[in-house]
Amino acid sequence: MAERVNTARAPVEVPVQLFNTRTLKKEIFEPSEDGNARIYTCGPTVYAAAHIGNLRSNLFADLLVRTLLHRGYSVTHVINVTDVGHLTDDADAGEDKMERAAVETGRTAMEIAEQYTQLWLDDRERLGCRLPDVLCRATEHIPEQIALVERLVERGFTYQIPDGVYFDTTKFPGYADFARLDLAGQASGARIADVEGKRHAADFALWKFAEEGVQRQQEWGSPWGRGFPGWHVECSAMSIQYLGETFDLHTGGVDHIKVHHTNEIAQSECAYGMRPWVRFWLHNEFVNLAGEKMAKSEGNVAVLQDLVRQGYPALVYRYFFLQAHYRQQQSFTRDAMDAAKTGYDRLVRAAAEVRDAGGEVREDAIEPLRVRFAESLADDLNAPRAVAVAWEVARGSELLPAERWELLREFDQVLRLDLANATPAGEGAENDPRVEALVAEREEARRTRDFATADRIRDELAAEGIVVKDTPNGPRWSRT
Ligand code: AMP
Ligand code: ZN
Repeated sequence: MAERVNTARAPVEVPVQLFNTRTLKKEIFEPSEDGNARIYTCGPTVYAAAHIGNLRSNLFADLLVRTLLHRGYSVTHVINVTDVGHLTDDADAGEDKMERAAVETGRTAMEIAEQYTQLWLDDRERLGCRLPDVLCRATEHIPEQIALVERLVERGFTYQIPDGVYFDTTKFPGYADFARLDLAGQASGARIADVEGKRHAADFALWKFAEEGVQRQQEWGSPWGRGFPGWHVECSAMSIQYLGETFDLHTGGVDHIKVHHTNEIAQSECAYGMRPWVRFWLHNEFVNLAGEKMAKSEGNVAVLQDLVRQGYPALVYRYFFLQAHYRQQQSFTRDAMDAAKTGYDRLVRAAAEVRDAGGEVREDAIEPLRVRFAESLADDLNAPRAVAVAWEVARGSELLPAERWELLREFDQVLRLDLANATPAGEGAENDPRVEALVAEREEARRTRDFATADRIRDELAAEGIVVKDTPNGPRWSRT
């Protein structure tokens, strides 16, 4: 499954350092095995469209993967899809988000999961995120999850109550370490009562029983009774299945540190006795909207398709992402997107001027820039600095055109702004046969009332920054 990529150049010597949530330090990273970095990323809960905050966690993992590939390592990258078991309040009470969406829409949980998984994959593709080596769905790994819970039951880490099988956090002395939790404070806060019979506030469900008299769409038999896995179990079971009992890197948003990742660590380390289970934990900060964390459950979200419809091609959002360090919060505003659009267009234009330029390439002229680019990323994935180096190259009057292109092409293996193909905004609008053909195909689809195809083509064109207007004289298109 591991992918080897031939980088254009020999890797630069400076070591990669990553900020590790486990130790709260920047540490030198090397894959533990054979030059292959094994990475697990917590993926989306597919009861609704992933919003651009969720997509930041995808872009961040992609930046990590591409940086490691650029450095000459190979990677095995696993991403999961949560299609069961994630409850509305992240703890053990509340409804299963998938089941609730099914009731609300009158569709099946599997239909909903399929629709939003596909949409998320489309978004990832439009954002230039590399396909993971393994994409795994929780509902397709129920036996592995049951096996993990069985190991914990056998080893005495669990107890059973009418609600389900629970992990007893007091049996794992290191439980509070990862997130520096104040368990005493949590206990006095008395949230234990969220589930009848739970012994300690931090204990969490490994297997939840289907409620008496309620027919769930997604439930399975288990040694303890009919039900479904707790949300945290899926990530431990699937990451261990595909990456081994210990692995190198685990990523997710900062909201996962206190509960989800703390619980993943507890159950994995207790089931397999490995410590640390994962060496490096990396977390991206939030995208905020109007000062609040963007969150599906709060309804204050923006999705990529809306941005595209508003004239911001998907890669403008990637450019926006690259302008902040992943551990800084980002405020999503129209002004910020406008600025990103302008910046991205200018960079594409500068790249287009030297694209495929032939001629002399002086190694001694380009090497210092190559080193600075690699050093920026090696410093805990400092994308803003890496983009600044790309800008220096794009503008660099001391560099020859072929040298600029050589560097931009190499940098784009990591930045993935499509500098080799993107069309500068406003160019080539009038006589682009490919666009003409697509517009005509859309018109034909409209005529035959195939609106799904018509909309898809319109969205694809919008993703490139092309707006189609339907006028009495037929469709007209222009670049935004
Ligand atoms: P979910 O679909 O809620 O399970 O979240 C998928 C991923 O997106 C997780 O890694 C979350 O931590 C991350 N995430 C959720 N909201 C935001 C946000 N506003 N900004 C950045 N990352 C987020
Ligand atoms: Zn997870």
